[in-house]
Parts: sequence; structure tokens; C-alpha cells
Amino acid sequence: MGTEKIAVVTGAGGFIGGHLISSLLRIPGVRVRAADIKPLADWYQVFDDAENHAGALDGDVRDFAVCRELCSEASDVYQLAADMGGMGFIENNKALCMLSVLTNTHMLLAAQEAGVGRFFFSSSACVYNAEKQLDPDVTALAEADAYPALPEDGYGWEKLFSERMCRHFREDFGIQTRVARFHNVYGPHGTWYGGREKAPAAICRKVIAAKASGDHTIEIWGDGHQTRSFMFIDDCVLGIRKLMDSTVLEPINLGSSEMVTINQLVDIAEDVAGIKLERRYKLDAPRGVAGRNSDNTKIKRHLGWEPSTSLRDGIAATYRWIEQEFHALGAQGSNAAIQGMGTSSFSHGAKAIPGDGFLAESRFLDTWRQGIPAGYGSHPPVRAGG
Ligand code: NAD
Repeated sequence: MGTEKIAVVTGAGGFIGGHLISSLLRIPGVRVRAADIKPLADWYQVFDDAENHAGALDGDVRDFAVCRELCSEASDVYQLAADMGGMGFIENNKALCMLSVLTNTHMLLAAQEAGVGRFFFSSSACVYNAEKQLDPDVTALAEADAYPALPEDGYGWEKLFSERMCRHFREDFGIQTRVARFHNVYGPHGTWYGGREKAPAAICRKVIAAKASGDHTIEIWGDGHQTRSFMFIDDCVLGIRKLMDSTVLEPINLGSSEMVTINQLVDIAEDVAGIKLERRYKLDAPRGVAGRNSDNTKIKRHLGWEPSTSLRDGIAATYRWIEQEFHALGAQGSNAAIQGMGTSSFSHGAKAIPGDGFLAESRFLDTWRQGIPAGYGSHPPVRAGG
């Protein structure tokens, strides 16, 4: 192995994982071991110079044997794997979100056993007490606002529990853990359709679809007054790297402090597109808390830095990327796929929601797509030769 360091990235086929790997591969002497439950063909970005572990047999980090193999001789672990999505997904799939605890538990155990140097866990602003987010005119959330605990049901509880697990593994077993609470990350190569996309990508896509179809209306979830901050992916990756190199032991906010209403987010996307749309508000859609922003006092104090890409610049880059993808899909003849992109759907675990593309036969074979835990149904995956 020489002086080479091995960095393990789980959730490598996802949005943040892909960008993180791209950044780690540029560090001299770092070898990247990448894992994701999705088949390689479905990874958002694939790097041939990384060691890729893909699919239900080699990349599922709910499986302790896979975690052990990944962590062997590793220096750093970036644990990003999670079953997640935007509000439409997490509000309708609480059990699936909580099952990510298996990935966090097994990766922590394997990392501790292998004696890795540092373990990074991607937590979320969804850990914050819901009662502190009832007003759109919210005071930014500081790290202490996670307690007393009343996080987002399902997804947020799992993240909060796993944060505590990182802390107690550090205190009891000595593994060096680092925890960031991400606030809404967006950018190119993220999920932009299918039911797991988040607001910035969904809004860019709807504006693009409206422009392409000539139907100049846009559907907005909620009344548009809910507030959020959105962090551009480059800031997220830089923040992860800075935190990993730091001595910050407690969970810390990693988010932008540029707060906007959803209506303002739509204004920006329209401005980038050079179009004005008629807004239709879908008041019964999943919308999350009324207001949320990141208090960056702590990150500025400890890292002397905070995410600073303006929302206008980040949305412009994201919009351009989604626009290319949208037209590429159309050019491939997938007109069926781009139809309906002016609205949002949401999927619900194993239960069929008419029109969301549920395939009964995929229940066990396609676990990463439907989220059904491999090995927990009547058709556990079979390891070749095993
Ligand atoms: P993503 O959905 O694009 O990526 C997550 C990846 O994890 C997916 O590719 C998925 O296939 C993989 N995965 C799921 N279960 C797995 C398993 N059992 N084994 C291996 N891989 C598995 O999401 P993302 O936006 O890249 O998020 C990365 C991490 O950051 C997640 O832990 C997420 O909860 C956290 N986070 C993201 C945001 C955000 O705004 N994107 C905000 C807060 C926290």
C-alpha cells in the first residue's frame, strides 16, 4: 500500500457522493473506494480510477460483510449512503428512511474494527426541533436547537440517532467521528425527477418543462412562503473536506445562510430562464417545516469559512445542467419520460401509487429503486458461489 491512503465513500452513486469522489481523486496519494447499492449503470457519476463496488451484492452497506471489506486498510470513511429524497419522499417513506440506521450502524462498526483514522457522517438539518421552525420568518437554527429532540419524523429521527451513535462510538471506542448537518444541497448531477428530487431541481425542471411545452404555468408545493436556504454542491464538498481535517467533534451546520422563500427561488429560476410563469399553489402537497435557515456562527468560528456561492449563481449552473438532461431525454425519444415534468409526483415505499411507475415485480430484485431492504423479504439476494 505504501504511503497511499484509502478513502471510502458510500452512497457513491448518488449526488453528493459523486462530487466528493471527484474532489478526493484530485488529492495526490489518495485512493478512493466507492460503494453504492445501485448498479453502476445508475450511478450519477462514475470514475474509472476509483475502486467501484456497485449493486446489491457488493455495494449494499446494510450488509456488515460488505462494510468490513470496504473499511479494510482504509484511512478515512465518508458515510453518505442513505435512502432519502425531498419532502415528497421523506414524508411518505418514514420506515425506509429509518432503515438507513442499518447502513450507519454497520459502517461505524466496521470502521471502528478496521481502525480507520476518521469517520464522516452526513447528518441533516432535519434533526432540528420542529417547534423551532413554525414561522417562515425563522431565526436561523444553531446547533443546540436540535434539543430537546423533536426532529422530522422518520428521516430526522434516524439522523439524530446516528449522530448520537457517532458521538458514543467516539467517546467509548475512540474512533474519530465528524458530523455535518447539511442544509438542502443542490447542483448539477443531482436527482431532478422521479419523486426523490428536492425543491431547487424540481423548480428548475418545471420551469424548463413549461418553456418547452408552451404551457406557461408552474405548480408550487405549499403557498410559496415557506423559507429555506440552499447550499451549492461545491460548497458542500469543500465543507466536508474542511470538517474532516478539523478538530470539530460535535455536529456542525453545513449550509448556506442566504435564506429565501420558495417564491423567491422560483423568481431566480424564472430569471435564469428568461420567462415569467403563472403560479399554481398545491396546498395539500408535502411542504415540510414553515421556515429553516442555517446559523453559521459555529462553522465560521471553527473553520474560518462558510458556504458562499450565491443562490443565483448556483441555480444558473443547475438550471443549465437540468436543461441539457431534459432535452437529451427528449432527444432519446423518451417523450413519455418528459411528459408530466411540469408537476411533481411522490413515491410511497412498497405501496403502489397509481401513476408513479411502481412495478410489482421489482419489489425484491430492484431494492435500491423501491427501497425494500434486501434480504428482509422472502427473496434474499444470493451471493454468487455462496
Ligand atoms: P442521493 O440519494 O443522491 O445519494 C444517496 C446514495 O446512497 C444513493 O445513490 C443510494 O443508492 C445510496 N444508498 C442507499 N442505500 C444504500 C445502501 N444500503 N448501501 C449503499 N448505498 C446506498 O443523496 P445525496 O443528496 O447525495 O445525499 C447524501 C447524504 O447526505 C445522505 O446521507 C443524505 O441523507 C445526506 N443529506 C443530503 C442532503 C441534500 O440536500 N442532498 C441534505 C441533508 C443530508
